[in-house]
This record gives sequence, C-alpha cells and structure tokens, in this order.
Amino acid sequence: MESTGIVLESVRKEYPDGTVAVDSLDLEVHGGEVLALVGPSGCGKSTTLRMINRLIEPSAGRILLGGDDVLTRDPVELRRGIGYVIQHVGLFPHRTVAQNVATVPRLLKWDRARTSERVAELLDLVGLPESDYGRRYPHELSGGERQRVGVARALAVRPPVLLMDEPFGAVDPQGRRRLQREFQALQRDLGTTVVMVTHDMREAVLLADRIAVLSRGGVLEQLGTPDQVTGSPANDFVADFLADFGEERAA
Ligand code: ADP
Repeated sequence: MESTGIVLESVRKEYPDGTVAVDSLDLEVHGGEVLALVGPSGCGKSTTLRMINRLIEPSAGRILLGGDDVLTRDPVELRRGIGYVIQHVGLFPHRTVAQNVATVPRLLKWDRARTSERVAELLDLVGLPESDYGRRYPHELSGGERQRVGVARALAVRPPVLLMDEPFGAVDPQGRRRLQREFQALQRDLGTTVVMVTHDMREAVLLADRIAVLSRGGVLEQLGTPDQVTGSPANDFVADFLADFGEERAA
C-alpha cells in the first residue's frame, strides 16, 4: 500500500478571541511514519492535529494530504478517510461494540457481509474477540477496552492517515504499555501514517519515528528521531522540556 504523506505549509490558527494557537508552522509528515507532537500544555498540539482533518479550520497556510489541499475536500468526506482517536474515545453509548466499530463502514455503505467480516477482524486485532465483546455496550467495558474499541473503530476502513490525541492517556499504566505495543504492531502492518499528540515523552520515544517538539504558538523547536531529540536537544527550550520530563519520571 502506498503511504500518504502530510505537509503543513505556513499553517496558522488564530481563534476568534485573538489567541494565536499556531503562528506559522511548516512540518512534513512522511508517509507511513509515526510522528509525535510534544510540548507543554497550550503550545498548539491539538489545534495542529485537528486542522489536518478540518475539525478546526486554519486561518492561513496550506495542508496537503497525499499532495491534495485538504481545504478543497468536503470536510465530512475527508474525515471519513482519516482515523481519529481521542483520549475519551467518545463511543456511542447505546450502540454495541460491534456497531461502534462498524460506524464508518456503514456510512460508506459497505455491504453487510464485508462490514461484519471487517468488524470481526478488527476486534480480533485489538484483542477483543467478537464472540466475547461484540454484543457488549461501552459501559460494560474497562477504560482500556473502550480505548481498544476506539482504535478498532478508527482503523475500520484502513484509513491511510490516523490522528491520535493522547490516545492512551485514560488507560492505566500496565494496560497502556500493552496497548502501545499492539498499536505499534498494527501500525507497521497497515503502513498507516500517524500523527500523535502526547504529553508523555516516554510514549513519544517508544512509538514515534520522529518527534516534533513545539513551544507556545506552535513554534517548531526541534524535529528529529527520538535519539536525536533526547541525545542532542536543539536548544535550551528542548533541553528544559526534556529535563522537566526527567524530573516528572523520577518523582
Ligand atoms: P495543546 O494541545 O498543546 O495543549 P491547544 O492546541 O489545545 O494546545 O491550544 C493552544 C492555545 O490555543 C492555548 O492557548 C489554548 O488556550 C488556545 N485555544 C484552544 N482552543 C481554543 C478556542 N476554541 N478558542 C480560543 N482559544 C483556544
């Protein structure tokens, strides 16, 4: 499968109240890589992520997905082709696990057989066999299991691009490590291009091919492999950010 790259060119977001969340960001995400956006709270990570699927409209600049300007795409149709996983998954409470995972295939009017085959396959992949879990409702699952359903739902139509905002944040530490490992295997298998927001540097180091460190206003302070960022911080900001993280870990 050909992987889809993402290019942000001088992207800006100024909210109506005048807050400049992202000033002028240039960033290229290679097809098939996992890119983590890290940085202190409020530096514009989520805003950046949500401009890619047009949940937030940029004020200026261009975002290209597989070479196409996302602003030329119908937002609803665009979002169906981009997986999106957030911390509190937002499963539909009155739909079963299987129905939740089938959301996008249904919208795309896949036939019943193809949909149920895909749902079973996905639930297996995330370790929730349909025979045990398919008919349960979200409130009958643990936090980690709900998050897995969220991942399965986001991957149901094998989207070329997956956006994740603190995807494993709500899961207990042990469950998180397992989910992270499973996610990694799944991502490599599918060749999905992933942009992930995380405040957890350890998660970024573990999962990302490259890490983008942002400071307030969506300023790109460093972009590099985990080894490059942790081994040779580009400036004091990055060094301080890493040091804070080290202290947090030691605490
Ligand atoms: P992060 O994900 O890095 O924590 P965000 O992208 O959520 O940062 O926010 C970046 C900045 O934009 C913050 O100062 C935040 O308060 C502000 N912001 C986010 N959403 C809105 C909004 N809807 N209206 C006004 N300001 C916002």
